[in-house]
Amino acid sequence: MSSENNLIKSNASVKNLRPLQDKVAIVAGSTYGIGFAIARRLAQDGAYVLLCSRKTENVDKAVKQLKEEGLSISGVPCHVGNEKDREKLVATALETYGKIDILICNAAVNPFVGPLFETTEEMWKKVFHVNVISTFLLIKLVVPHIQKQRRGSIIICSSFIGYIPEPYIGPYAITKTTLFGLTNILAQALRSMNIRVNSLALGVINTNFSKVLVAAVFTGESGYQNPPSYAVCYYKKLEDCLSSVLFFLDKPGLLQLQYSQCCYLISKIKKLQKQGPRVSILKILKTPELKSKLIPLGVHRLGEPEECAGIASFLCSEDASYINGENIGVTGGMLGRL
Ligand code: NAP
Repeated sequence: MSSENNLIKSNASVKNLRPLQDKVAIVAGSTYGIGFAIARRLAQDGAYVLLCSRKTENVDKAVKQLKEEGLSISGVPCHVGNEKDREKLVATALETYGKIDILICNAAVNPFVGPLFETTEEMWKKVFHVNVISTFLLIKLVVPHIQKQRRGSIIICSSFIGYIPEPYIGPYAITKTTLFGLTNILAQALRSMNIRVNSLALGVINTNFSKVLVAAVFTGESGYQNPPSYAVCYYKKLEDCLSSVLFFLDKPGLLQLQYSQCCYLISKIKKLQKQGPRVSILKILKTPELKSKLIPLGVHRLGEPEECAGIASFLCSEDASYINGENIGVTGGMLGRL
């Protein structure tokens, strides 16, 4: 091979190493968890990233950490449900970087875990306002600026639960189903502007958010409570505990559970419940004997936030230039599609 060819090949690989070179990305809800991992990855791949979340201290901490890693990061406090905050977010991106190419809509809330008919109008309004309506309004605000770049990418973070809604987190699950529909209509509405819109059907990822679900606390008591930062569920019946534990296992695997294995699970839960008033599902799932019993059934680990970041970067890159309107499962094999 001639030295000239070598040079061409070498340039191509350098280009691929920073597929988002000079792009400007806003990542909404990105000071920890999946959003943080996505913000970091987009910046590692060459983008200038504006991160945000509700709490200033979280923004400062995240910006400091990523700057120390040598990444091009800035941050601004923003509650995506607040119109003024959304406007400030977009204005900050333009003031800091002069343009916007990429928007990642990652912020979401789940204000309730518990029986469906105990949900209130207030809970439904809150979860739809933050997860769906604010996502749309932020996109609406950003689109005219991406349009000026003549191409761009928007990613909406949805969930596998949008495909297989679980009644114990009913309102949240339905917002995630709605986001699949939103992705589809936005992709149609924006394709003439060369703006692609895709969503991620995320599986159970190891973050604070999933602790609400995975480590939902259960006792034999009835009722539930909603502390401000997380929801805690008290299951009324042992069967509900069991169904919740099993929910986090692979659904097809669940069908394969034999009677003896269900009995084992129930006895394990009962035994742990005797140790104290509250027993976390996480503790049960971490029990070595249980793990060893469940692994042959195809149960696997939780995902890590970093495992959601590469696909987000790819979808924003030119390599994904013909991928539009898709809901892409990142579930480690759980059901993440119809
Ligand atoms: P997380 O660990 O709770 O992190 C959420 C991030 O968003 C934090 O930076 C938080 O910071 C910020 N945030 C929360 N509410 C906000 C708001 N109203 N406005 C702006 N920022 C806000 O959550 P995660 O697990 O990474 O989840 C991220 C996304 O993935 C969500 O859309 C979630 O529905 C989806 N998802 C997660 C899982 C999972 O298992 N973890 C599964 C499927 C889908 P502040 O507290 O400072 O606001």
